[in-house]
Amino acid sequence: MTGGQLSVVSCQWAVATWYHGRATGNERGRVWDDRESSFKKRDLGEATVETLLLIDLQNDFLPGGALAVPGGDQTIPVANRLMPRFDLVVATQDWHPANHGSFASQHPGRRVGDIIQLDGLEQMLWPDHCVQGTAGADFSPDLQRDRIRAVFHKGTDPRIDSYSGFYDNSHRRSTGLAEYLREQGVGNLYIMGLATDYCVKFTVLDAVAAGFRVSVVTDGCRAVNLKEGDDQRAFEAMRAAGADLVTSDKMRG
Ligand SMILES: [Zn+2]
Repeated sequence: MTGGQLSVVSCQWAVATWYHGRATGNERGRVWDDRESSFKKRDLGEATVETLLLIDLQNDFLPGGALAVPGGDQTIPVANRLMPRFDLVVATQDWHPANHGSFASQHPGRRVGDIIQLDGLEQMLWPDHCVQGTAGADFSPDLQRDRIRAVFHKGTDPRIDSYSGFYDNSHRRSTGLAEYLREQGVGNLYIMGLATDYCVKFTVLDAVAAGFRVSVVTDGCRAVNLKEGDDQRAFEAMRAAGADLVTSDKMRG
């Protein structure tokens, strides 16, 4: 990971804090510098930065992980193949404190799969997963992470879960992702990752609502599928909201 180029964004409280190291002297750095001086003049219709958003390609969601998504590892080669074609690559990480309220372990007598009320919201209980700083929370070692320009953390507040990369599940707090993407002049936003029926779906719905032109790379996604067909229902909900469904072999480049 090239520290100078990577932004890590963590929104634990009301105000998102983020930073980025600006690359200079390479192609991407020049794109950024050009845009920085002019993005305020643009509206989204004029934005042109082709962007790939990778959702939660983390060890705990891959086979052998704490919350393994069936076939989750098959998304990694798709991400690696697509990243070089994009102006900007951004990723999310599920990034929980060890006492996160979505963990069944935090609720005596409850089991994984139970639905509880957590701070006034319905919450599915999961196994402990993606605990901050653990190997399970890290990106897959097979992912070409040096191409990722910025990383946004979600799920950092123990009292509420965040399936979307943009907001927590009650839309109380932004991660800063939408503002960041607008600032970069993002035009078409391609989204893929894990899992189709949770974090990909809710990220896509928020991205469409935020006004981005969104395409979902379906072969770059895998689903939990607690109920058979959850993946197809999730794709249909994304399409109905206004996202295009595409496969990587039909994409440019
Ligand atoms: Zn989580």
